[in-house]
Amino acid sequence: MKKYLAIFAVALLGNQVSADECSVDITGNDQMKYNVSEITVPKRCAEFTINLANIGKLPRAAMGHNVVIAKAADKIVITTDGIAAGLDNDYIKPDDARVVAHSKVVGGGETTSVKFKPADLKDGEDYEFFCSFPGHVSLMWGKLLVK
Ligand code: ZN
Repeated sequence: MKKYLAIFAVALLGNQVSADECSVDITGNDQMKYNVSEITVPKRCAEFTINLANIGKLPRAAMGHNVVIAKAADKIVITTDGIAAGLDNDYIKPDDARVVAHSKVVGGGETTSVKFKPADLKDGEDYEFFCSFPGHVSLMWGKLLVK
């Protein structure tokens, strides 16, 4: 029965993009690592969601992680300003126009997510996702492949 339902669902969706293509689940750990180094973002998604699970054991203040979306060229200055903004601001300067979107900082065992519109990413620019927790950006970042 399940098989027929699946076929029916595919028939209904037709050419439309499936919800699965417009979101991805990633993890961050106590070794300051995401489990992926690149994320494919289909341009045709109206909205794209990155769900982050911090699978570490350490608390938010010690080993918190977030996901920030921005141009690769802005990554370092965003994280530098983020350190000054502090944990209360999720290590992002409030209203930082260079940030496309960002999640909250979460500690071990917690999850968060960030949503953005692929249409807001300009052609010809390199975009990345990264963690703005102080000291993490050198290890915790990856490329967004907008297709
Ligand atoms: Zn981190």
